[in-house]
Order: sequence, then C-alpha cells, then structure tokens
Amino acid sequence: MASDYRSMWESLGLDLEAHDQLLQALPPTYGDVYLAQSDRPAGMEYFDFVINEIHGLRIQELQEHKARGGKVVGAFCVFVPEEIVRAAGGICIGLCSGIEIGAAQAEKVLPRNICPLIKSFMGFKLSRVCPYFESCDVVVGETTCDGKKKAFEILSDYVPVHVMETPQMKRAKDRSLWRSEVRDFMAYVEEIAGSRITKDSLGRAVREVNAKRRALMRLAELRKNTPSPISGKDCLLIEQIAMYDDVERFTAKVNELCDELETRVGEGRGADGAGAPRVIVSGTPMAIPNWKVPHIIESSGAAIVAEELCTGLRYFENTVPEDGADAERMLDDIAERYLDINCACFTPNGGRTEKLAQLAEEYKADGVIHCSLAFCDPYMVEANRVEKVLKERGIPLLKIETDYGQEDSGQLKTRLEAFLEMIG
Ligand code: SF4
Ligand code: SF4
Repeated sequence: MASDYRSMWESLGLDLEAHDQLLQALPPTYGDVYLAQSDRPAGMEYFDFVINEIHGLRIQELQEHKARGGKVVGAFCVFVPEEIVRAAGGICIGLCSGIEIGAAQAEKVLPRNICPLIKSFMGFKLSRVCPYFESCDVVVGETTCDGKKKAFEILSDYVPVHVMETPQMKRAKDRSLWRSEVRDFMAYVEEIAGSRITKDSLGRAVREVNAKRRALMRLAELRKNTPSPISGKDCLLIEQIAMYDDVERFTAKVNELCDELETRVGEGRGADGAGAPRVIVSGTPMAIPNWKVPHIIESSGAAIVAEELCTGLRYFENTVPEDGADAERMLDDIAERYLDINCACFTPNGGRTEKLAQLAEEYKADGVIHCSLAFCDPYMVEANRVEKVLKERGIPLLKIETDYGQEDSGQLKTRLEAFLEMIG
C-alpha cells in the first residue's frame, strides 16, 4: 500500500498484530492467482490497484465520508437495497467473509459446524481485523438462512444490526411482506442518516446503481464470445469489488475495461485459448478473497464464462425501472427487483434452475460446476433440483462442496480435471 495507514487502523480499533497477519496472507495469494495470468487486459490495472489498497484508500474514503456526517451501512447479502442507503446519502458496502480468520473466537459464540461464511463474519468482528466492519455504523442482516438469521442475534451484541425479513416464497402475500420490509428499511435508514429520502434522491440512486449493474452486464455479455476476452477469475474479482468500491468510479472503470475487451474480441484475442471447455460456476457466493475453486478450474485448462452466484449474475442481471412516478412506486419497483433474485432460500426455486439452463445455452457452456460451501443447507439441498433439470437438458454437471481451507485443493483438482476431460 502506498501510504502508511496504521494510525487510521488504530483509530478504528483494529487489532494491529492480527491485522498485519491478515495483510501478509493476502498479497502472495493474489500474486499467484491473479498477477501470474498472461496477457491480462490493461484495464485490470485499476482492479489490481483496488486490491492493493484494499485496507487503505477505500477505508480512508469511508472515514472522510463519516467525517462529513455520512453513514456506512454493511451488508452480507445482495437482498439489501443499496439504492435506499445511497438515497439517504449513505454508503452501502458488502462485507466479505471469504477467508478463514478468527475461527477460534467465532467458535466461542457459534457451533463448530456452521457455514464458513457465517463463521468468518463473526470471526472478523470478534478478532477486530476488518477495517470495513469497523467502519460500519450499522450492519443489515436478513433472514435468508437459519444460520445467518440466528448469527445476527449474536452479532447485535457487538454492532447495531437491522434485520430484514426476506420471504421464503414468492406468492402475492410474500411480495407484500417484502414491500413492507423495504419500507421499514427506508424508515430505518432515514433515521440513522438523519435525512429524508425524496423522489429525486431515490431516482438518482436508482439510476446510479442501475448504471453499475449495466456495466457489469456489458462485461458479462462480452464473455459470450469464443474465446472469452477475459478470464473468469478476473471477472469474479470485479464482481467482488463491485460490492464495496465507489459506485460511479467503479462503473466508469468497468466500462473502460469493456471498451478494451471489445477491441480484443475484434482481434479474436482471448484469455483462455480457443478450444478450452467453457463452464458456468453456480452456487453459494464467493466472497473476497475466496478464489480457490475458480483458480483450480482455470488452472486446469477451462474457461469460466459466467457465475450464477451472488458474486456474479444474481447481483446485477436485473435493474430497477427508472420511470417510477413517485417514491412509493419506486419503492415497489425496488422491492420487485430484489425479489427476482433466485436465492436458494426460496421454495420452490424453479427460477434458478431455469435460469441456469438458459445461461448454459446463451454462454455456449460445455458444463456447470455447482459449488456449495460446507454446511450450507439451502444450496447443498438445492443441488438435487439443479442436477435433475440439467440432466433433462443434457448439460453436464459437477457438484462440489468445499470450505475456505486449502486442504481439499488436490482432491478438487483431480475431480475437476476428470470432469473437464469428460466435457472437453
Ligand atoms: S445466496 Fe442468498 S442469502 Fe446468500 S448472498 Fe445470495 S441472496 Fe443472499
Ligand atoms: S452460504 Fe448458505 S449457509 Fe452460508 S450464509 Fe449463505 S445461505 Fe447461509
């Protein structure tokens, strides 16, 4: 990192010794996974810079925002409406939880056998190593899975938590519950931010967040080309950064990168070589810096062409209508947009399996890799429905269950190579 941020970290109450250990773990991994790729697009330089400054510049920006009276709202799920936070002048950041850290502390308050993502966010908070977490005025939880729902009760001992009740079905009465939750969330955000959300501020926020989603969609569309002009790993990284970077700057940088990728497509230049098997990764979100499975897939000779993940298409594929006549209508539109997300917390969740089959066709995928975090019941159980539908359509599938450790890397590589050989 370019500057010395230690006094800032200290003022945030970080455990500096534990934080140093975390930072030391990141750069070598990043170098091996990302910087070792050949012929990367020049536009990736910005995203490398963001990672290089992961606990520096962006944290400084958050502190400056707070010094001006702005609020920082943390979230763990793509159901939390970023538009509403922005409309009240706040910054919404996705907290990562993609690394095993503070497990011993987390296990003091959580059972050992719980999904690594939940254990990680509790570990981050209890071991005071995450400057994003420590910058949050509030954390917004949701009732998407039982583990998270109960963990947020415990987390509220350490940071103010607001929980949104996400429905488990998509019937008319569930939609109406979710619309009221979105309104309650708006009232809560207005109260903590001390500012009223108006038609104009909401409309502006909707347009800004839509622009970010459209830029990401533009990037996704470019990957439909054979060969794809960019690696799946690089795209995952961009999708992860989307959750915490400055919205307008990020949008501009993704669009710049897409300009360059259009040229690469015209030249027939790809990240993967013309004949590599094309795969879609589906399942639980891969929070930063969880790059393990994508790295194994691509270093085994395949190209990831899409992510049916919350760190992927689920985050950006739908936009909010921009022609809402008033704030009430816009709130309903926002609620509807979020309820279109195909999270495995829903029952039934036929939208996800249909979507996957459609994506396989659109992205000319040779197969799908379904990746669940250990102890994640919603996705591990739903893998059965995914398997059934993809089998009916003749789309090869590999199911993987993993965690944040590296112990299973060899075994995963063997299984992936066998799968790629079969579909290649
Ligand atoms: S998988 Fe479901 S619960 Fe998890 S981030 Fe995505 S929408 Fe939220
Ligand atoms: S990965 Fe699964 S178990 Fe873990 S928080 Fe998400 S939905 Fe819940």
